[in-house]
Amino acid sequence: MEPIINVENINLWYDKGKPMEVYALKNVNLSITKGDYVSFFGPSGCGKTTMLYALAGIDTYQEGHVSISGQDITGLSNRDLAIFRQKGIGIIFQQFNLLPSLTVLQNVILPMLFIGGSTKESKERAEMLLKRLNLEEFAERYPFELSGGQQQRVGIARALANDPPIIVADEPLGNLDSVNAKNVLAFLKELNEKDGRTIIMVTHEAWSLQDVKTVFYMKDGIVVKQESKAEKPIAESVAEYLYGELGQTHKEDPHTELVSAHVISNFLLRGFSQEEIKRFEELLHERFINKLSAVDFHRLLLRPYDKGGVGLWKIKAERLFQSVEEIIREKKTLQDVLIHIEKNPEYPIMEEVYTIRNWILRTLDTFKFSFERIDALDQVIADRLRGYLVREQMVPIFTRSLDQAGVGLSLHIAMQITEKIEAFFDGTAVIHT
Ligand code: ADP
Ligand code: MG
Repeated sequence: MEPIINVENINLWYDKGKPMEVYALKNVNLSITKGDYVSFFGPSGCGKTTMLYALAGIDTYQEGHVSISGQDITGLSNRDLAIFRQKGIGIIFQQFNLLPSLTVLQNVILPMLFIGGSTKESKERAEMLLKRLNLEEFAERYPFELSGGQQQRVGIARALANDPPIIVADEPLGNLDSVNAKNVLAFLKELNEKDGRTIIMVTHEAWSLQDVKTVFYMKDGIVVKQESKAEKPIAESVAEYLYGELGQTHKEDPHTELVSAHVISNFLLRGFSQEEIKRFEELLHERFINKLSAVDFHRLLLRPYDKGGVGLWKIKAERLFQSVEEIIREKKTLQDVLIHIEKNPEYPIMEEVYTIRNWILRTLDTFKFSFERIDALDQVIADRLRGYLVREQMVPIFTRSLDQAGVGLSLHIAMQITEKIEAFFDGTAVIHT
């Protein structure tokens, strides 16, 4: 099969020769087949973004060669590289990178004007792309007026502007709740399967690999392994990789529960802080080796973090408790668990926040909220769910002005909202969306 990208013995250093030198890519050799959907997968800091930028001709490497569609891009001037990229590669950034002073439509038109497209045709194509991404009604809005999911879709429309055969995406789901993340995944799949584009996605979250056909596993600047769907289901490949990597353990090994607790807790508590994940992991491990009874485990999931628990809200605690007890009861292997979680990902915390916030806004129809105020409200809800705030702090924060890190609400509305959040927190309100 025809390679569309060929990477030959790349070595890349940041700040080479200086005291803070980082050796970020080490002897990387690989080739990406035309029409493939590949991912670079690995922990934070392993060199995924650097890899992506090197093979897309954004970052320069000191040694080796990269060829794209048969052309060696090594040593091209920045200007030539930019022209090459504008036509050949569409880039989707994690932080969206939209120009704030341009409308949505103008953001999508811009890359076409760069390569000399006519204003009329560029506008027509941009409108067509916005339509394809369900964004027509936002064409004249500015990026700040859009939600994260909508901005990410504008980013995708922009990446498609010049109809590139290759799309690269750096953690495209990083800032999205899981509904939007699923939409983006579905769209990437469509771009690959329907349009036949080559997709290269960087991620550190295993669940987002579900449609990927080839995975390059990275660690400390090295591509340590490559596996494709034809050889093994991706979920299985990933589970094996994580399982092996985190302790080189064997199923009967006494360390297995420790490894399982580590891997599973990271999957189940997406979006939580490292401390909370660590606390959950410790309790999970004790539960697995039966040092902790089911009743005590359940109680500790609910107990506040500063009192030795995880501080989860009731419904979340209930869901996690049921999953864990099922794993224990059915003696599931780590592979089983990971495959299951990948198919039914646990809601990340921001999705819970959006659910509560939308529910609150729906039931407070007398009150119009600005985007700024919604953002501030989201922050407070997230902090409450993470246990950083206690009930008593809610009303004072809600009534503080926006420029003093508050939400700028009247006392009356603040009290109403607090009551709703607390009802969700203690499980007396079950929200159907
Ligand atoms: P990942 O995307 O997997 O999180 P990166 O490619 O961003 O990893 O980073 C790989 C390594 O290179 C890390 O040690 C990081 O600190 C370092 N690094 C990344 N960008 C720069 C930069 N611009 N200057 C110096 N070091 C960098
Ligand atoms: Mg990165």
